[in-house]
Amino acid sequence: ACTRNGGDATRLLQVLIDVQEKAGWLSAELISAVAAELGVPRVRVEGVAGFYSFLYTEPVGNYRVLFSDNITDRMLGAPELMDALCGKLWVERGKLSEDGLVSVDTTSCTGMCDQGPALLVNGRPLTRVDHRRVNQIAELIRRKEPLYAWPSELFRVDDNIRRRDALLGPDQRPGEALRAALTRGREDWLAQMRLSNLRGRGGAGFTTAVKWQACRDAAGADKVVVCNADEGEPGTFKDRVLLSSFADQVFEGMTLAAWAVGAQRGFLYLRGEYRYLLDHLQHVLARRRSAGLLGNAILGETGFDFDIDIHLGAGAYVCGEETALLESLEGKRGTPRIRPPFPVTHGYLGRPTVVNNVETLAKTTLIALHGGEAFAATGTAQSTGTKLLSISGDCAYPGIYEYPFGVSIEHVLEDCGASDVQAVQVGGASGMTLASYEFHRRIAFEDVPTAGAFMIFDSSRDMFEVARNFVHFFAHESCGFCTPCRVGTSLLDNYMNKLASGYGAKMDLADIEWINRLLRQSSHCGLGSSAPNAVVDALVKFRPAFERHLRNLDFEPAFDLNAALAGARTAAGRDDPGAFLDREQETTR
Ligand code: SF4
Repeated sequence: ACTRNGGDATRLLQVLIDVQEKAGWLSAELISAVAAELGVPRVRVEGVAGFYSFLYTEPVGNYRVLFSDNITDRMLGAPELMDALCGKLWVERGKLSEDGLVSVDTTSCTGMCDQGPALLVNGRPLTRVDHRRVNQIAELIRRKEPLYAWPSELFRVDDNIRRRDALLGPDQRPGEALRAALTRGREDWLAQMRLSNLRGRGGAGFTTAVKWQACRDAAGADKVVVCNADEGEPGTFKDRVLLSSFADQVFEGMTLAAWAVGAQRGFLYLRGEYRYLLDHLQHVLARRRSAGLLGNAILGETGFDFDIDIHLGAGAYVCGEETALLESLEGKRGTPRIRPPFPVTHGYLGRPTVVNNVETLAKTTLIALHGGEAFAATGTAQSTGTKLLSISGDCAYPGIYEYPFGVSIEHVLEDCGASDVQAVQVGGASGMTLASYEFHRRIAFEDVPTAGAFMIFDSSRDMFEVARNFVHFFAHESCGFCTPCRVGTSLLDNYMNKLASGYGAKMDLADIEWINRLLRQSSHCGLGSSAPNAVVDALVKFRPAFERHLRNLDFEPAFDLNAALAGARTAAGRDDPGAFLDREQETTR
């Protein structure tokens, strides 16, 4: 594996993925061997192996089954199905079976919410799990059937495109957009990008042309384009469909970005859950190389040399944050960097780097083909073009919908066959929880921004459980680098579990609000600051769902902390107001 990766320590994550694919797990001996082979300290290899959820430093068996724990999978019965599979295989959740054959556990959202419940077997997604499939899976595992011999129907993943517009509508021929941009010339191409006012579709909404121009103007000739295909936000799966059926547009968009900024090297960072798309994507890349759309002198343009490598992620949501992704690309733990400097000047290995989302890059092909003004004619003034929505949850037609920006929530709900809806979670676990009185609001950066997730909850759903699932997600995905997020997300998880088990009191709700402020003010990156979004929204808009879990709304602990601290005050010789807990302040912190 080390040789195949050129003995390059920046490919450490890829090396470990390859080693694990052969050996099943990363033993201490293998970790030492990789460290020696790559010439890096063992502690670094150990640190990387321990960071990513899909790297195993303990045996996990010949079959590693991971049920998606996203709320939409849970609503479709994932927990009961997992219990049934555990029962059939005589294995305890999270533990290796006695014969070392199989382990069953949960994982964060697998990006299959439109065809759940879903699970991964040795990294391959298996959709539409029901009790019949659970029996089938148990039998295949008991018979020790190799994965390649499993019925292919089990692994069928549908695109489920329900509404097409500019991007998903007319077919594009590979190279068509690139030719159009080259004909315009670099300056005019960038001018068209500015005219389009295209904003990043990964959630933040930064203007793409500004990012490209900053990278182009940055010192240093060795520039890099990175496609962020680490689509990990619960409820989002539109990039899966783009990579699966519109890969040419995505790679063409990367090449258009390279032409604009003067990059020679590109990476597509593919989330581990989409590992099953790797062969397909490699095939598309090879085809584009043969057609002169990648490599040296692209389309005969002297000096336009650009090629793309695919790097695999390994189950770390935080790597969707662009600087964490760059760390991961460099073969390190995915810890977000301190900014500034920004990636456009100091990105991959310190080089000027553009990082764009899959959908953003695909959209640039439309601008190359039709011009910036035509692109900006759709949508709203501040949110031009169309947006892909990944719709799941309580509706008749889950799947991918492409709308011009500005579409209302109620319009979308009508199209996807949703009724009796009490809430929509837009933007995933870190997004907004909208109650029915807000369904007139519009999908747009200036109103309801989203990377694409649109999860629907009808009136039968317990919004406390929805919020609890999101809180648990963040506690699991916090990278642990900074204390407010590491501790704060776990505390939130504990509070929600306490409420769920009926031991909560009103002051716990006040504490949740206090932790929210702490996370927002002190977290190092967006994961921590957005972690409490859903729970706080739910607390404001669906408070009765929380209060139903309180044992007694007026319950206050009998324990008097001020009295208990009297001894400490005497010992410290303090009697000032600062040495007392003010109960008023305490409950409204
Ligand atoms: Fe890591 Fe959370 Fe801190 Fe971000 S906020 S660096 S995810 S611990």
